[in-house]
Amino acid sequence: MKSIAEAYKDFPILNQTHNGHRLVYLDSGATTQIPQAVMDALETHLKKHNGNPHRGAHILAVEASEAYESTRDTVQRFINAKQREEIVFTRNTTESLNLIAFSYGMNHVKKGDKIVITIAEHHANLVTWQRVAERTGATLEYMYLNETGHLLPGEMDKIDATTKIVAFAHVSNVLGMEFPVDELIRRAHEVGAVVVLDGAQSTPHKKIDVQALDCDFFVFSGHKMCASQGIGVMYGKRHLLEDMPPFLLGGDMIEYVQEQSTTYNEVPYKFEAGTPNAHGAVMLKAAIEYLESYGMDEIQAYEHELVEYLLPKMTAIPHIHLLGSADPAEKHGVVAFTVDDVHPHDVATIMDSYGVCVRSGHHCAQPLGAYYKVPASSRLSMYIYTRKEDLDAFLEALKKVRPTMG
Ligand code: PLP
Repeated sequence: MKSIAEAYKDFPILNQTHNGHRLVYLDSGATTQIPQAVMDALETHLKKHNGNPHRGAHILAVEASEAYESTRDTVQRFINAKQREEIVFTRNTTESLNLIAFSYGMNHVKKGDKIVITIAEHHANLVTWQRVAERTGATLEYMYLNETGHLLPGEMDKIDATTKIVAFAHVSNVLGMEFPVDELIRRAHEVGAVVVLDGAQSTPHKKIDVQALDCDFFVFSGHKMCASQGIGVMYGKRHLLEDMPPFLLGGDMIEYVQEQSTTYNEVPYKFEAGTPNAHGAVMLKAAIEYLESYGMDEIQAYEHELVEYLLPKMTAIPHIHLLGSADPAEKHGVVAFTVDDVHPHDVATIMDSYGVCVRSGHHCAQPLGAYYKVPASSRLSMYIYTRKEDLDAFLEALKKVRPTMG
């Protein structure tokens, strides 16, 4: 197996300087960089096999279909779905969640029912449920957290007999922590609710087994795991997908169209209207194979080592406050923080002047910011190509933030 410590060499974009410093990319939670192997896979596809999948009998249409469908097999294996038909391609996590909200939520939730989510959800897994609640008359209820990011005692009791949907992030994009996923899924199923698990921040970093998790829906984005922007996945248990109406309408999702009525294609195709992002699918397959060449368990262990290296050094710097737990055992490679008396955008701008890329803002989780009274923060997020030297550069830049502000 290749050494992950050398993985950064696979990423051409990292081999450059910015403001006279080596470019240090620590915004992988927003989007990841792309290794040469994935770029090569796309180039080969474009030079040899490009066509419109599922349309036409000529060689290029057939090869494009094969490429697209073989990604479905790869994703099925990657997340251990029972059947390939349970894998639906979308644009991203957001579209996957919209598909579930509109096709499942709108048809299975009614007045008097509850949708339960956590206060830490990304807007993609929050505004969607607000809309379902508004349209159906259901109640949207939040499970709240203590100051270290753990569910407060009793919050899981909000999952009760009136609950139809429980939706939450597998790993929070702000806190970098996991909720008690097994317990939440067990409780949801005890009351007959379905579970929507947002895997945007977990799938790139750890082995996913949707059958072992027993979630009903699972969603993630290719661009957060070394593939291109514009390709995402919605996994759903087959019996649920069979029962759901299509989300988008048009070509490919039909079986037979007459002037006044249409019958729909079978799953998963009834959810994939229009020309699909076959280029993104090619890159997603190559990205999965790339990650597996290092091993998902090894990637998780490597990132954990980085977190263990970083957190004690970071919390030792005065005036730095982490959001959520500061315990490395509980933290994935996402660390949101504030610096006393410095706006997060200033933090990010000062860091950028040292070549260090971190995110700043509300991280698409405004209700969490309002709840914690921390409307904005800065965020470091790592990946397979992150090195200890990168974290050292980050720590050095962080120490300069307050002095730079004067
Ligand atoms: N959910 C979580 C936890 C995320 O971190 C993100 C993106 O940052 C999303 C959903 C939305 O992902 P996308 O913008 O790829 O749709």
